[in-house]
Amino acid sequence: MTDNVTTYLLRGVRPLGGDAVDVLLSDGVIAAIEAPGTARADGGVVVIDATDQVLLPGLVDLHTHLREPGREDAETVESGTRAAAAGGFTAVHAMANTTPVADTAGVVEQVWRLGQDAGWVDVHPVGAVTVGLGGEHLAELGAMAESKARVRVFSDDGKCVHDPVLMRRALEYVKAFDGVVAQHAQEPRLTQGSQMHEGVVSAEIGLAGWPAVAEEAIIARDVLLAEHVGSRLHVCHLSTRGSVEIVRWAKSRGIDVTAEVTPHHLALTDELARGYDPTFKVNPPLRTADDVEAVREGLADGTIDIVATDHAPHPVEDKDCEWAAAAFGMTGLETALSVVQQAMVDTGRMTWADVARVLSANPARIGRIDAEHGRPIAVGEPATLALVDPAAIRVVDGGAQQTASVNTPFRGRTLPGRVTATFLRGRATVLDGSPVEPAGTRGGR
Ligand SMILES: [Zn+2]
Repeated sequence: MTDNVTTYLLRGVRPLGGDAVDVLLSDGVIAAIEAPGTARADGGVVVIDATDQVLLPGLVDLHTHLREPGREDAETVESGTRAAAAGGFTAVHAMANTTPVADTAGVVEQVWRLGQDAGWVDVHPVGAVTVGLGGEHLAELGAMAESKARVRVFSDDGKCVHDPVLMRRALEYVKAFDGVVAQHAQEPRLTQGSQMHEGVVSAEIGLAGWPAVAEEAIIARDVLLAEHVGSRLHVCHLSTRGSVEIVRWAKSRGIDVTAEVTPHHLALTDELARGYDPTFKVNPPLRTADDVEAVREGLADGTIDIVATDHAPHPVEDKDCEWAAAAFGMTGLETALSVVQQAMVDTGRMTWADVARVLSANPARIGRIDAEHGRPIAVGEPATLALVDPAAIRVVDGGAQQTASVNTPFRGRTLPGRVTATFLRGRATVLDGSPVEPAGTRGGR
């Protein structure tokens, strides 16, 4: 435990959006939950008026690109995890497509250590499935699992493990240490040169299309492979109605598959490509309004287990160019919760308890970090929490964010909700909506 943990009293807060209570955070845990206005604030207790604010378990992102090592001009572990804390996150899984690729125990331990040193959130490195993301030889999955980083999620994200024999071997291999393969489902031959979703808009504006079947064919194949070898599969950022239907079918069959959707696929459509603004160029591409409706339905009914950001920062020069030359990807850590509130809570499709499930408990369980994250809000549980003011309104200003990159697709949009505080094992990483420098906590776990 760190030595600078303060005692906090959250007055009048609503755990998971329920009835108001006072919540006392002390010694890194939830020390007491009492009727509102009754908890005693002894000397040294920092009292936070949290009237009408919602208390959630700290958010967990299963899909973050922190870019370090290799692309520190886009993001570093320090800046990316500061952005994560600002967004209410207490743990992130850092994708493996760095330079060098996180395909050895050495690299995953380096990323894990950078996360520890930064101190904003727990960083759990994702290990590459294949050496150098090359899609030809399995990486040292066992060595990464046994390293200090304790890797449990393996992914070539950015690229699809398209060789079915290799995918089968990976699914078999990770069973030994309760790991999961997180697949970026993209049939490479069907998407060569693709720039956006294949449909009416791509035909009208003349950009090369990316058919839904390129995603769905891989998901269909992979759920059958997972069933065949009796392993655990996670589908990254599914984006089409067909993908939701395949996952729903697989779950009804008892296949051990989980799936994620990004905030941007819950909110935005391919119509945005009409302006040729590469801010909206992303992989998988923004789809149609019907697909958006399908992923919202899938998230609400539990077919889709989690929301993951696919936070993909890029330096200005990689995005501020013509569409075809621009990089794929958008940032997301600091807007994810607001987008989910707007798309799912404010529309009456989900409760705050559901939000805690899809943004905290489920991703923690899939990543096998559920002993520390995604916990119930109860006495004795870790004080690893996010405090949200759902009545707040903000206009997104890309330049005012904590991430080192500005490629947010929500720039200029009005979004509901604001993270006012984040706590990691009782230590405030965000207070009054602003990051609190974690000085003196280096290596304090
Ligand atoms: Zn991906």
